[in-house]
Amino acid sequence: MPTSPLQIEILTLFEDNYVYLLFEPGTGTSGVVDPGAAEPVLARLTELGRGLDWILLTHHHADHSGGIPVLRRETGARVVLSKKDVGRVPAIDMAVDVEVGEGDRLAFGDVSFEVLDVPGHTRGHVAFWFPGEEAVFVGDTLFVLGCGRLFEGTPEEMWRSLSKLAALPPATRVYCGHEYTLANARFALAVDPDNPRLRERTAHYEALRAEGRPTVPTTVATELETNPFLRPHDPAIRRALGLEGASDVAVFAELRRRKDGFRG
Ligand code: ZN
Ligand code: FE
Repeated sequence: MPTSPLQIEILTLFEDNYVYLLFEPGTGTSGVVDPGAAEPVLARLTELGRGLDWILLTHHHADHSGGIPVLRRETGARVVLSKKDVGRVPAIDMAVDVEVGEGDRLAFGDVSFEVLDVPGHTRGHVAFWFPGEEAVFVGDTLFVLGCGRLFEGTPEEMWRSLSKLAALPPATRVYCGHEYTLANARFALAVDPDNPRLRERTAHYEALRAEGRPTVPTTVATELETNPFLRPHDPAIRRALGLEGASDVAVFAELRRRKDGFRG
């Protein structure tokens, strides 16, 4: 694996939100992904003696965007957000901020990232993929062993978005917007109980959480083996749902529907 020049630090906000601080030491470029609140981000930047150049926003929900007005005012950072979210987020200034969509490539100091449109959780949801760093920031689209709720999209859209993430190189590290892993594991085991890799990963995640450690990042390869929402083709999952002959998207839709009502 190449040694990545991009440093990624995990901050926890509220109950279970993850905020990611990014730092590219070659140029001293500093960024943050999904700052739901400003104060913890500012406090950590002060500790590190860093400013803030970029705010990367995956989607407009307040638990991801709430810190933007204060961070912009205090640091002058520029916001990168989906074209579709302009007008849905406070304190955006199109004179300096950058609206993006599928396939746009932007520089982050000496590294670069690509924007992926991943609608489903919201209609303007994007992911930020750093191919050279083997890292992707997925917000509330893909979680460890789970996926986001469909607030503004159809199962078809979400399935297409998840398929796009699943097609990234297998070693890609996946940085999710929330720590929902243990709840997701209970559902995953209910629909895919005989998956040895899922059992093994669940034990690993339980140990991490018992020590208060995050279960992120995961990888594309691990999710392909363990996340039921990426495995609707799997015969055992289909059998568990009674959907042997259905299409992948129909199986996905049924998984999402059952998870919404699941009390594990
Ligand atoms: Zn959200
Ligand atoms: Fe969220």
